[in-house]
Amino acid sequence: MKSLGSFRRKFAPWNDPEAKPYISFENVTKKFGDFTAVDDLSLTIYNREFFALLGASGCGKSTLLRMLAGFEEPTSGRILLDGQDMRGIPPYKRPVNMMFQSYALFPHMTVEGNIAFGLKQDGMPANEIAARVAEMLKLVKLEQFAKRKPHQLSGGQRQRVALARCVAKRPKVLLLDEPLGALDKKLREETQFELMDLQMKLGLTFVVVTHDQEEAMTMADRIAVMDKGKVKQVATPAEVYEAPNSKFVADFIGNVNMFEGTVSTVVPGKVDIDVPADKITIRTDATRDCAAGQSVGFAIRPEKIRLSRKEPANTAVNAAHGELYDIAYFGDMTVFHVRLESGRIIKAASLNAVRTVEDPLGYDDMVWVNFDTDAGILLTA
Ligand code: ATP
Repeated sequence: MKSLGSFRRKFAPWNDPEAKPYISFENVTKKFGDFTAVDDLSLTIYNREFFALLGASGCGKSTLLRMLAGFEEPTSGRILLDGQDMRGIPPYKRPVNMMFQSYALFPHMTVEGNIAFGLKQDGMPANEIAARVAEMLKLVKLEQFAKRKPHQLSGGQRQRVALARCVAKRPKVLLLDEPLGALDKKLREETQFELMDLQMKLGLTFVVVTHDQEEAMTMADRIAVMDKGKVKQVATPAEVYEAPNSKFVADFIGNVNMFEGTVSTVVPGKVDIDVPADKITIRTDATRDCAAGQSVGFAIRPEKIRLSRKEPANTAVNAAHGELYDIAYFGDMTVFHVRLESGRIIKAASLNAVRTVEDPLGYDDMVWVNFDTDAGILLTA
């Protein structure tokens, strides 16, 4: 996995002005009757990228994927694949293959039969099919299961058969609609790394639809966060988490404490935000332009908040007093819920890196919440 990580860190064609996108959605709209499922959406994806479409149910992710595969045509706008306009090109003539949520394996065929099916349809000679199927079985580590039928396999094994069947035809782009949806949590986590490994080995472009943000964060090079047929932000997992571009994305990804306030003063490099509802003044690094009197949001992740019994040196900004009213222990980390004097609940998290903690914080303790000026994100959208 180490080499995978170091390769991925270097892979960033979206930052290279010379790099040409492999897939482009240009002002794509898809309507079903009066309903707009995809709304004037533009997006580019690069060759060999692991790209995730992330959003709540009904936001248009699958529709986008189905248009790329050729099962739906855009109502307006166009989709380019390797520079070629895809309008009117049927699914089987596109260099794209799609793996469905249900895997859609043929129940009466063996694992081999399922993998060979598309190759037979394409008229590939029998000896080449046999060689390709053997290669695919090895790739997904199912050599011993070649003669089994789908019902004699576990969920994870079925998922691998579906994957092998999709990549057997050597598509340039693999589209995966909730590929791990049918697997339990532990198997999902293992399979995420297998998928990443497979994508790297094959050098394919993967476009994955998921509503599971942890899955998208783990696997993808970049994530498009979608809402109501629009893309809200396209960025790397770290950027989406650390530098969300809007209240929507900050709120959608991970856990966050969101404050709504008014800018009181702007001094070079810093912005003060009055949050009267929560009786707190927030001082944050001025990462976005704003002016005194402007309504803004401020988002801060639970792990960026400190809790202490001792009063911080400066309580005028970024500090509030409250009562610890709930503690959720997750093994690796603990999440504390603090009720401020204003009534507002703040979430703070700390890693349980040491096994025993002397005098740990407990229920009903009175604590100070505080954070640094670079701990959160100023949001103007
Ligand atoms: P999910 O995660 O639930 O699969 P999604 O983000 O993939 O959701 P889509 O399947 O793309 O969502 O659907 C987007 C919207 O378009 C939904 O409101 C859906 O009801 C609507 N829709 C999709 N296909 C059709 C269709 N053939 N006719 C009418 N409406 C449709």
